[in-house]
Amino acid sequence: MNIVFLGSPGAGKGTQAVRLAEKENFSHISTGDIFRAELKNNTPLGMKAKEYIEKGELVPDELVVNMVATRLAELESNSGCLLDGFPRNLAQAKAMEGKIPTDMAIFIHVDEDEIIKRLSSRRTCKHCGNLQSADDGAVCKKCGGEVYQRDDDKEEVIMNRLDVYNEQTKPLIKYYEDKGILFTVDGARNVDDVYSDIVAAIKKND
Ligand code: AMP
Repeated sequence: MNIVFLGSPGAGKGTQAVRLAEKENFSHISTGDIFRAELKNNTPLGMKAKEYIEKGELVPDELVVNMVATRLAELESNSGCLLDGFPRNLAQAKAMEGKIPTDMAIFIHVDEDEIIKRLSSRRTCKHCGNLQSADDGAVCKKCGGEVYQRDDDKEEVIMNRLDVYNEQTKPLIKYYEDKGILFTVDGARNVDDVYSDIVAAIKKND
């Protein structure tokens, strides 16, 4: 089963997808994580993506679609794939259709005020990529690594990322709803409750 995660930055897509991949043996593709790794390693793709990521803009579709197609071709697991952060607009969703069937789209809904609060206090582990709040301290709760604030989690970029989300990504909710494969979950609750709802919906759909 292939599942697309939808929701604004900070809604909890990454947190839920990582957990689901670990517990239910899905492959997890996070386009944001891939770009950050490419950037860290100064690869040509990372260099091309840098200016867009820094501003909170979307990286051009052809770069993203080719990158995802390469990852999909490399996947060994046949139990399915979780796409986190992709597709981000209608063109990407349509490009994906020819490559991999989408069985379900899970939309994690969180109000914008809460999103702004979450993103501005979000910290990322330098070592394992775990996401946590600034209130949790300077050390990763999962691996003990050092945490930092992503440049694009700083206030000026957050507002642009939310504009991009509202204009380009939000239409995907209706797109998957029209296909009859959208499941909406209230993401304003604690991580465990959101996770239980997602697992129940997947089992029902299986
Ligand atoms: P994320 O970690 O998913 O919030 O992604 C961080 C940044 O990577 C985004 O703000 C974009 O600049 C870029 N990015 C990630 N996924 C995509 C995508 N599917 N299409 C275009 N740009 C993307």
